Amino acid sequence: LMGQMMSQPLLISSIIQHADRHFGNNEIVSRRLEGDLHRYTYRDCHRRTRQLANALAALGVKMGDRIATLAWNGYRHLEAYYAVSGSGAVLHTINPRLHPDLIAYIANHAEDQYLLFDACFLPIVEAAAAQLKSVKGYIMLCDRGQLPSDSKLPTLLCYEELIDASSDDYAWPIFDENSASSLCYTSGTTGNPKGVLYSHRSTVLHSYASAMPDSLNVSGRDTVLPVVPMFHVNAWGLPYSVLLTGAKMVFPGAALDGKSLYELFEQEQVTFSAGVPTVWLGLLTYLAQNNLKFSTFKRTIIGGAACPPAMMKTLRNQYGIEVVHAWGMTEMSPLGTTGTLQTKHLSQSVQEQELRLQKQGHAIYGVDMKIVDDDGRELPWDGATYGNLLVKGQWIVDAYFKNEGGDVLQDGWFPTGDVATIDADGYMQITDRSKDVIKSGGEWIGTIVLENIAMEHPAVQIAACIGVCHPKWDERPLLVVVKKPGADVCREDLLKFYEGRIAKWWTPDDVVFVESLPLGATGKMLKNKLREQFKDYTLP
Ligand code: ADP
Repeated sequence: LMGQMMSQPLLISSIIQHADRHFGNNEIVSRRLEGDLHRYTYRDCHRRTRQLANALAALGVKMGDRIATLAWNGYRHLEAYYAVSGSGAVLHTINPRLHPDLIAYIANHAEDQYLLFDACFLPIVEAAAAQLKSVKGYIMLCDRGQLPSDSKLPTLLCYEELIDASSDDYAWPIFDENSASSLCYTSGTTGNPKGVLYSHRSTVLHSYASAMPDSLNVSGRDTVLPVVPMFHVNAWGLPYSVLLTGAKMVFPGAALDGKSLYELFEQEQVTFSAGVPTVWLGLLTYLAQNNLKFSTFKRTIIGGAACPPAMMKTLRNQYGIEVVHAWGMTEMSPLGTTGTLQTKHLSQSVQEQELRLQKQGHAIYGVDMKIVDDDGRELPWDGATYGNLLVKGQWIVDAYFKNEGGDVLQDGWFPTGDVATIDADGYMQITDRSKDVIKSGGEWIGTIVLENIAMEHPAVQIAACIGVCHPKWDERPLLVVVKKPGADVCREDLLKFYEGRIAKWWTPDDVVFVESLPLGATGKMLKNKLREQFKDYTLP
């Protein structure tokens, strides 16, 4: 017996239509590259999105064509999100922090037809253009007057001119919800980047799930500032979940330093934000140096890398901000788990609650997870046994674009490359990425734990732990530390700091102090670079 409910394909265009029809006057505010603030409504956004869809159709863009963007978080990028996917083409967001050669590799692999880019990325586009085989035209996200007259690009078009020349009379096409909607390449820290091809269905389901109170908790009463970039995993789905809930959207553009972010948070009364841990470092330093507090900012999602407990404590205790730890990956759209408490945890001690909140959290409905040993046998959920973390679900990759890497699943599960524990209440904790784990005398040492302890020390700004060769133990931990501005600590004090906090044999063998740590294109620590840098290091 079949149910008798309406069947409508889950399409991304339905989100912008809903946003316009039900929250049409709600605001989208963007800091532009010029520094000023641009403001308009959901309704304006939808109108320009339809104009862009018409403009793309006039340029010959068809269902399934890949359209690339190289852009910061801003209203024009949002228009591209909806116009490209909504019209049936595929939005390929490219990370502008990648080397032009890598950008060219990715764009060629994706066979991008057009490339939309922020004016500030013109030099990168020009540097890559000679290698781009499929791109028919370059669209600069700017006004007519801003278009350079002397560019070397073969077909350079002006975004605002295209919009102005196009009608807003556009009917969003209806098609199979399993059609591709957007494409994001993994960072490719090992080997070439691989494309993850999201579908309309996976994106809409992920949007519903991510908005739930115990996931990102996006509400129509929020003002949301996504620091997490729209060029990496769709800014954790916020361009969709914010619009479907009717929250106010605030885009920071390229100004991601502590001062600019703080001013925007205050001016636009931001209540909720999301980003990788390194972003909050800059903001917290700025607040501390200027003795400032937030007046409306209440909650933040931190993920993409382990959030140091010290950072959680500072945000919570000094600034009254609720920190929700989230874990996911490009292959997972990206959300897998979020760390929020359940009723039964509320009667526990503050310390127990803190320890739980430091974990990466419980699975969101739509995602299942398990830990297995190297032979694929499932391991117990006891909070202590660690193993390879596998996931499956509605918005998790089935195969990479063009089947790169072949069959990637293990009995229908996607191996995340992370090593984790899961406790009896279903809270998962990442110990390490499998390639970062230190193998000491046949046993594993998780580097995240060692880094978190170092970052509890008041003089430590940021720390990374890597394994370096050891004649007896194969590998031993080396701690690499950036001190806080004006603070001081010596090697011996830092090593002493581990006493009583961890098994003695997990304590790093040595500490080196550096000016900065290598960060990758998404703001995460590049451990492989660090390992390369210290590969000949002799431990005492
Ligand atoms: P890449 O780092 O290659 O760009 P992703 O951005 O998809 O890939 O990152 C996914 C990885 O980031 C995860 O597999 C995990 O190792 C790490 N990660 C993400 N969130 C967290 C978190 N909250 N804690 C620890 N590690 C995390």
